Amino acid sequence: MLLKDKVAIVTGGGQGIGEGIVNCFAREGAKIVVVTRSEKSSRPVADRVNANGGTAVWFAADVTKPEDVTAMVDFAVKTYGRLDIACNNAGRLGNPRNVAELPAEELDEVMDLDLRGTFLCCREEIQAMRKTGGGAIVNISSVSGLHGNVGLSSYNLAKHAVLGLTRAAALEEIANNIRINAVCPGAIMTPLQEEFKKNDPIGFEETLRKSNIPVGRMGTPEEVGNVVAFLCSDMASYMVGSAVVVDGGVMAQ
Ligand code: NAD
Repeated sequence: MLLKDKVAIVTGGGQGIGEGIVNCFAREGAKIVVVTRSEKSSRPVADRVNANGGTAVWFAADVTKPEDVTAMVDFAVKTYGRLDIACNNAGRLGNPRNVAELPAEELDEVMDLDLRGTFLCCREEIQAMRKTGGGAIVNISSVSGLHGNVGLSSYNLAKHAVLGLTRAAALEEIANNIRINAVCPGAIMTPLQEEFKKNDPIGFEETLRKSNIPVGRMGTPEEVGNVVAFLCSDMASYMVGSAVVVDGGVMAQ
């Protein structure tokens, strides 16, 4: 087991990629705090982990609120005694808009969760990890943090900035034995995509074909979770400030 008895936080762990990360952390022996904005969305994931022989608790926090983020980290430390690893995954896409048509308020909304929320989490997690001699943090960016997409301007801005945050914090904290890296997923199958596939199978296949993914399919949340678990483990001891692409070959083209 890569993460035996490590204490972990996963934000946005209620579904999709976050749930895949929780499942991989559990398989590798971590004790997990599953975080979403409500008990309704976080509890079922924690319950499933416990039912399968793992160890997890749920916590409701809005990661855009500094007081909630402080409470989230305090809860992890109070519950399990320390914080060893964290994956800051909560994020959103925003409305499809080109830069020329992007209302500043819509940019603020996406930046608030994708960048500022990730920053607030990093800040509190670092403080807790410094107290116990180190740890590992993974921020979820996207391939949209590495290249541009027509019509995804706010998301492109926020996810590029997450990589800047990751690199700056990684350089600052390696002296404190805290490794900070980012993962850049490509197209991953989440409940939203499952719904799209069920309701419009032809449209789904057409979108998939246009996405031009070399492996010919979307990725699974667990395929992202496996990489996050590796980056949080001692196996990745020489990885600092990396942006690891998990995209079925899209960025290799
Ligand atoms: P999702 O919408 O399926 O899940 C998001 C999770 O975050 C949910 O559990 C939700 O409850 C939680 N959440 C939302 N706002 C929150 C807040 N303010 N505080 C706490 N929790 C909150 O998303 P997903 O598709 O699984 O994406 C997860 C991450 O991966 C995001 O950062 C996203 O940008 C990134 N990503 C996704 C894909 C993809 O193809 N799905 C590709 C690249 C990157």
